[in-house]
Amino acid sequence: MHTVIVGSGIAGWTVARELRKLQPDAQTHPITLVCADSGDFYSKPMLSNALASQKTPVSLVMTPAAKIAEQAKVTLQAHARAQRLDRSAKLLVTDQGELAYDQLVLALGADPIRLPIAGSGAADIQSVNDLTDYTAFRNVLPEKAKVVVLGAGLIGCEFANDLSTAGCEVTVFDIAQWPLGRLLPQTAGEYVKAGLQNAGVKFEMGVSITEVAKADAGGYSVTDSTGATHSADLVLSAIGLKARTSLAAQAGLTVDRGIVVDQKGRTSDPAIFALGDCAQYGEQGLLLPYIQPVMNAGRAIAANINGADTPIRFPAMPVTVKTPACPTVIAPPAAGALGNWDCQPVEAGLRALFKNADGQLLGMALLGKATAERQALTGELPVVWE
Ligand SMILES: Cc1cc2nc3c(=O)[nH]c(=O)nc-3n(C[C@H](O)[C@H](O)[C@H](O)COP(=O)(O)OP(=O)(O)OC[C@H]3O[C@@H](n4cnc5c(N)ncnc54)[C@H](O)[C@@H]3O)c2cc1C
Repeated sequence: MHTVIVGSGIAGWTVARELRKLQPDAQTHPITLVCADSGDFYSKPMLSNALASQKTPVSLVMTPAAKIAEQAKVTLQAHARAQRLDRSAKLLVTDQGELAYDQLVLALGADPIRLPIAGSGAADIQSVNDLTDYTAFRNVLPEKAKVVVLGAGLIGCEFANDLSTAGCEVTVFDIAQWPLGRLLPQTAGEYVKAGLQNAGVKFEMGVSITEVAKADAGGYSVTDSTGATHSADLVLSAIGLKARTSLAAQAGLTVDRGIVVDQKGRTSDPAIFALGDCAQYGEQGLLLPYIQPVMNAGRAIAANINGADTPIRFPAMPVTVKTPACPTVIAPPAAGALGNWDCQPVEAGLRALFKNADGQLLGMALLGKATAERQALTGELPVVWE
């Protein structure tokens, strides 16, 4: 039985390693991992706090590709891009040739969303979603740079905090009225904003960017939606991700906001699984682009490739936002959940709880010292998917 995995992020390597534990004999159970990048194993979450922790693109690599492939007894095809799937012949076609599979795992990740921004400098706008992006970003980031961050979501706030700690002058733009606007109620968003402002980050909320032009004196002139201009050495876009679905869609698999999988991690083709940032769990549009869901899904999928019938289960999985200027833990309520936020100041912190009419806790945001309540409150949150 040959398992082929496409993608060498946490999703691809988790399935490879978990499957190898269940199928230790590489002769009878070969695993091939195909990836467009080098295959090096690194912690993607560290990309947004690497400056403050003085990590470089090289030191961010935790296990080089050759070593992790040897440990997991996996045949690695690095720098190989999957181009097409022939499902009837069970063939994956890459730019390096064809690979026959018995079971295929799609762990393709997601692409950063790009806004249509005008100007001679628009092509220079950076976005950081992998180690290659991060290397490019570091190569063009001057010391103590003036940086415009586009997007006050989780990744934008983390980069803003990190850049500011490293001595950069940071301004964050977002059309939302407060940071983390899709995850937090206003009171909590304003609390995060104040914490980051104390660390030197500036915010332009309710404002977008329309043009980035190369300035004669070097750097860029950034025009915002009010018509005001700002100078910057670098513009970083962090406005969200779009699941990589085209390979699956072209092969006729069911695709929505991501590649749709069932409770067992299977796509609409039972020989093909998907997980991680490229996947949508169930038909209700559930996207979970975070580490813990990848680990849970990876373990279940490995078991199912090995013949088990193990459902993926996602308990409540609060996410830590890596903003030391305002420690933040968020477990947002499910999309469409009915209820209200109640924000209570605590000593040096804020506790925001989202409850339904029966008083049941459906979501939370813990800020500052309230993050100490994480464990106790997580137990009260509903299971996300089972
Ligand atoms: C800056 C940043 C900070 C984050 N911080 C946190 C955090 O604190 N906590 C948290 O839980 N989550 C965090 N996340 C999210 C988390 O890191 C991701 O959800 C997770 O790493 C996604 O892993 P993945 O394996 O699904 O995708 P990826 O890591 O993107 O891997 C995709 C793989 O697919 C390969 N690929 C794509 N297309 C092809 C193709 N056609 N052919 C071959 N190979 C292909 C790529 O080369 C890559 O190897 C953060 C994300 C970012 C960007």
